[in-house]
Amino acid sequence: MPNPILKQVSKPVKEVTDETRELMDDMLQTMYAAPGIGLAAVQIGVPVNVIVMDLAKEGEKPAPKYFVNPEILELDEDFVPYDEGCLSVPDVFDTVDRPKRAKITYLNYDGERVTEWAEGLYAVCIQHEMDHLKGIVFLDHLSKLKRSRAIKKVQKAKKLKAAS
Ligand code: ZN
Repeated sequence: MPNPILKQVSKPVKEVTDETRELMDDMLQTMYAAPGIGLAAVQIGVPVNVIVMDLAKEGEKPAPKYFVNPEILELDEDFVPYDEGCLSVPDVFDTVDRPKRAKITYLNYDGERVTEWAEGLYAVCIQHEMDHLKGIVFLDHLSKLKRSRAIKKVQKAKKLKAAS
């Protein structure tokens, strides 16, 4: 942030190939190293519809999830607030209201079709990551005032880093 690639709309993947799996492996490593719980390919500069995620808690066995060409089929009418952060917007957290549940369909690591309801943190994370595929960052969901405050915070942090 504010790297223009984050505004780019990602393209669908034609087929899940070894190349796609290599990309997903790379993304997972990047995400674990950050550390984060979700990452869209565009965040590492590859604008294709691929997401990786791991919602396992600290001390739990890793549980990586892979999403190729995810689509939302249905959204719950109830919205819930969640304090979101983003690897592309370091040090900024803010509350975003999103549908409580999302019915999604996607291709997994092996290219198989999966259709399921995402709930709780899973619902928050998949909607956040799918926004990235459309060129949307979570700050875009905030009010103008909150957004400009958050952007200032990111820029200030960057300047401090550059100065040190
Ligand atoms: Zn993000």
